[in-house]
Amino acid sequence: RAKESGKARSELFDERMQAQAVDALQTEDDLSLALAEGQLRLHYQPIVDLRDGHVQGVEALLRWQHPRRGLLQPADFVPLAERSGLIVDIGKWVIDEAWRTLENWYATIEDCRLTIAVNVSRRQLANAELLDAVATNQPTGPAGNALLVEVSEELLVADANAGFSTLHALRMMGVRVAVDDFGAGVSSLKHLQSMPIDHVKVDRHFIAGLGLHRQDEAVVAGIIGMAKNMGVGVVAEGVESHDQLDALRRLGCDSAQGFLLGRPSADVRDVIDLPALETGRDGTPRPVVVR
Ligand code: C2E
Ligand code: MG
Ligand code: MG
Ligand code: MG
Repeated sequence: RAKESGKARSELFDERMQAQAVDALQTEDDLSLALAEGQLRLHYQPIVDLRDGHVQGVEALLRWQHPRRGLLQPADFVPLAERSGLIVDIGKWVIDEAWRTLENWYATIEDCRLTIAVNVSRRQLANAELLDAVATNQPTGPAGNALLVEVSEELLVADANAGFSTLHALRMMGVRVAVDDFGAGVSSLKHLQSMPIDHVKVDRHFIAGLGLHRQDEAVVAGIIGMAKNMGVGVVAEGVESHDQLDALRRLGCDSAQGFLLGRPSADVRDVIDLPALETGRDGTPRPVVVR
């Protein structure tokens, strides 16, 4: 009897596994179709210069407008895209789209100095397509160096050699490199020194603790201090409150990004037309609009 129910259970398990496998295959097919049929979108979130309160640029965040399931977030499909290798073609599309956005800005905004940051995963750094995409259809603007790539710190530590050579090549092409979610992963401050990077983005978990946990403030101060010494820019991620913004200004952080300053939006004009931070009574800039 026990044997039988065990068998039944394992059959059930097999069925479930099979169903999951079929699901995954279907989603993979769906995803390559999504790319071919133009269901992918970029949403844009502003990055604000804390020295003068102006929007300095945007981060492009991938979305999938799924015909049945609605708007999907990266967590819903980027892991699959990475496993299946589709991320290489998707990443190429992301770069193309970023160039189109820049081209549009250059055509419509006088003396445009805005930057656009795209996220790049491990598979893409190991693939020549990324460099090809960057080299193709790059519009010329007044400032140059308008494209940034964001890579995770794990990638810079684990894959050092393969990753570094691509990053060096990108920097030769005028692309700047930012380490994303810094502090969340395995690397330490001393790794910063050996990384071919231009900016550090402080992980939002440390920002969340500003004003609440003294240790978080110490970590953020440490990252900012180290980055300053190395001539690397610092961006705070996930800024959600005025207290956090005030703390970041006090610590001398260069730039900030987060729901307080602007949520990701499908309409890039909406994001870059944000009014500059207003100067508060205490003399520190505050956002005029909280979205
Ligand atoms: P990320 O690069 O660290 O992007 C920041 C994430 O934090 C975004 O989530 C953004 O919506 C969210 N965020 C921004 N401000 C706040 C805030 O104030 N509070 C909180 N709680 N969250 C905030 P999203 O769009 O879901 O993206 C998640 C991750 O997916 C990104 O993290 C990035 O690693 C990855 N990703 C996004 N687009 C692409 C892409 O085109 N290619 C690749 N390979 N990965 C991508
Ligand atoms: Mg990012
Ligand atoms: Mg991040
Ligand atoms: Mg992240």
